Amino acid sequence: MAKSALVLIGQIAAGKTTTARALAQRTGARVFCVEDVREPGRAALHILGDTLATTGLEHVILECSGTTADFEGFLARLDTLGYVITVVKLVCSIETAYRRIQATRSLERARGGSWPVQLRWVEQRLRAVPAEATLQTDAVELQMVTKEVETRWCQASPGLEHRPPDAGNSFSFSRLSTFERCPLAYQFRYVEQRPARYRFQEELVGRLVHAGLAQLYRPQSAEFSLEKLLASVSTEASMVSGLGSAADLAESVRDEAIAILRQHYARGFTLNERRTLAVEKRFEIDLGAGLAFVGTIDRLIESQAGIPVVIDYKTSTAPHPAANIPDFLQLEAYGLAAQLELRAPVVEIRRHYLRTGTEEIGVVRQSDISRIRLALRRWIRRVTGVVTFPPRPTKLCSWCTYNNICPSPLQPMRTAVEIFVVDEKSSATTGSG
Ligand code: SF4
Repeated sequence: MAKSALVLIGQIAAGKTTTARALAQRTGARVFCVEDVREPGRAALHILGDTLATTGLEHVILECSGTTADFEGFLARLDTLGYVITVVKLVCSIETAYRRIQATRSLERARGGSWPVQLRWVEQRLRAVPAEATLQTDAVELQMVTKEVETRWCQASPGLEHRPPDAGNSFSFSRLSTFERCPLAYQFRYVEQRPARYRFQEELVGRLVHAGLAQLYRPQSAEFSLEKLLASVSTEASMVSGLGSAADLAESVRDEAIAILRQHYARGFTLNERRTLAVEKRFEIDLGAGLAFVGTIDRLIESQAGIPVVIDYKTSTAPHPAANIPDFLQLEAYGLAAQLELRAPVVEIRRHYLRTGTEEIGVVRQSDISRIRLALRRWIRRVTGVVTFPPRPTKLCSWCTYNNICPSPLQPMRTAVEIFVVDEKSSATTGSG
């Protein structure tokens, strides 16, 4: 089989390292960064060439700037070693690169003494390097860049294993926690893909409140008033009552949602001066081996100190997760998603309980990335590794959408609104939100 080498070159802070690591996870290729192999008195690319000559690795990703005098000679050597070479160049404007450097490398000094001078030099040198693909990374999420680079590399290297996650291998916290609450409910929902036909008061309140918060905090909504907010919630609630026959339940859902939002508006919104970057932001973390963790960040803000803050809003009354559900990992994963996208060294994570105004707070640093990814992967592997799905009857059976087809519910199902639409945010047993 032909050996293949992806050579990722480009501007400083254009996203080469993050892209190289993500691709290594997706393809199983070994990654070498020129910065990691430096030795006094020896050219780094020469050391890399020697390493490849002795190891004979099949698929490799090589990350370097592509601007040193020996770069073309290095490619010629890869060619003689039998590698099919794909050179991909990642570029961004000098302003973007400088902004990213300030955010992530404030203590690092430029080689030439000044970052703008060095960035301009790299930009000019890169204009003399041909590449199979050149990708702008200024305003594009790095996950999209990674997918594009992977596509180009796979096209050039047919032997390369291409393992993109598919929908069946995308795991949300809701999906994983459903398994922990009741394996049989998980089987109904995610293995047999039976529709979740009922929604309960708690889930409906959560949906209305989250829709209201998204309106409230959308960046262009600075002038949004309480009256407008409550009117829009009433409109949404009227659509809930139209879906089923439980009119009393729909009214009680609306009143509860309005009470929570009114309290939050008085307690938090008017005092909140922090900048909202995004609301209801969907993300996907590629965990390698075809697996992904997906979710939606309720709100992403920038603190007064310039640190990104992920906020997860809860309509439940207090921190009371089932002991077997690692619920703080959900928040950490959301922080990781924000960190990967914004390339921030630190992200603050907050879980905000709307009924009480209390918060759980944590921090995700770059040193946490590997631990969080491995924990998610281990959790997913445990869920996908089971072959039997026994029922686990608990008091949550009263809120289970499969209660009336289950052979062993602990208690009958509570009053619910019957629906005919299913989506990813639905969980088989409520209790979160
Ligand atoms: S009713 Fe209870 S035991 Fe049956 S599937 Fe639902 S949660 Fe599991």
